[in-house]
Amino acid sequence: MPLLGAIADDFTGATDLAGMLVKGGMRTVQMIDVPAPEESVADYDAVVVSLKSRTAPVAWACAQSLAALAWLRAAGCRQFFFKYCSTFDSTDQGNIGPVADALLEALGARFALACPAFPANARSVYQGHLFVGTALLSESGMENHPLTPMRDPNLVRVLARQTRGGVGLVPYATVAKGAASIAAAMEALEAAGQRYAIVDAVSEQHLLAIGKAAADHKLITGGSGIAMGLPENFRRAGLLPAVAEAEAAQLPAVTGHAAILAGSCSPATLGQIAEATELPRLQLDPLVTPDAERLAEEALAWAEGKLGAVPILIAASAPPGQVAALQAQLGRERAGALIEATLAMIAEKLVARGARRLVVAGGETSGAVVARLGVRRLTIGDEIAPGVPWTFAEGSGPKLLLALKSGNFGARTFFRDAFARLAKG
Ligand code: ADP
Repeated sequence: MPLLGAIADDFTGATDLAGMLVKGGMRTVQMIDVPAPEESVADYDAVVVSLKSRTAPVAWACAQSLAALAWLRAAGCRQFFFKYCSTFDSTDQGNIGPVADALLEALGARFALACPAFPANARSVYQGHLFVGTALLSESGMENHPLTPMRDPNLVRVLARQTRGGVGLVPYATVAKGAASIAAAMEALEAAGQRYAIVDAVSEQHLLAIGKAAADHKLITGGSGIAMGLPENFRRAGLLPAVAEAEAAQLPAVTGHAAILAGSCSPATLGQIAEATELPRLQLDPLVTPDAERLAEEALAWAEGKLGAVPILIAASAPPGQVAALQAQLGRERAGALIEATLAMIAEKLVARGARRLVVAGGETSGAVVARLGVRRLTIGDEIAPGVPWTFAEGSGPKLLLALKSGNFGARTFFRDAFARLAKG
């Protein structure tokens, strides 16, 4: 039976959290959207339900989160985690506060900590203020985010505007003293009637101590960093065997052709494509052929005879000038939707021809591919690069190995690294 049940407010954030739990030795599965009642997760220690609720209407985000919670409780989970972005992406309307309120109420709990810190990714919280690198959140670029502009770096204030409950702070000086001090401070805040505590953390040691202090909390909220300390709690309680990370990350073997589909136009992905000179590759030209079906057919005709153990690379990714040209021709949304539909169709056709190991570059692109392939769950395996694991995908189609890469992740050699790791495993 699973121990930890998590609800993540977006897809790649869910994968990030799942990877963190695998590193802690928990066998972890990511479920896409609220699972059907009959889905079994009995073979896992942790389950992460990924939603698309970060910027959804508040009522919908709360309803989906509660449905995910009900499913996780029915699956036997005993502790729950609400995962949001390490930059606390939200507005005064939500969705972090309202979703956390709804989850607490459903669990009959009165208090939860909130900590988005992730020092390894340069997110730290000091005196309740969130920093990205050396910059305050509100001066980090996040103040210009199109959907969730973060103009106040003080998370006590930010969260207080989103919840009817009170928000307190467990400051650095307390956190530095360790788990017992943190636990005592949280108890005092709860006794004083506060519903949340923003907890400072500037190092991994702090994250581990906070995790330990929250061992008995029904609900924990935060970024993936704060999950670092949780596996050890279950181990200490004798609920989790001392499996090594390598064992938790083991995926079933899958044989079949290999392919890479790139829809991200981020500098990292463009660099990775430029680096992969040894691979057979096709650059899609949506400016000449602005039609998903025709583009997909052309790609499949090109792929004929090239499918095998060496991955083929099909990319829509383009530098800013070309992206702007397509957007000028079709409009921003239609341009994005055209490419996403094209790559999703190509993925489907490649799988029909025996492709079973796929790397997809781009967050939105990955979402489109996974939906088109009918994937319902991803068992999380070995990390290729920080935040990007291989996963074993199951759903309505054949079983696959998928690596879903958020655009800016991975080294220049990412595509080579990904398949080299499979060859080793
Ligand atoms: P990232 O993770 O880098 O943000 P995404 O896949 O989330 O990548 O977003 C990239 C977006 O760019 C997608 O909507 C994709 O369809 C779109 N796109 C890809 N290639 C092109 C192109 N040549 N012209 C215009 N838009 C494109």
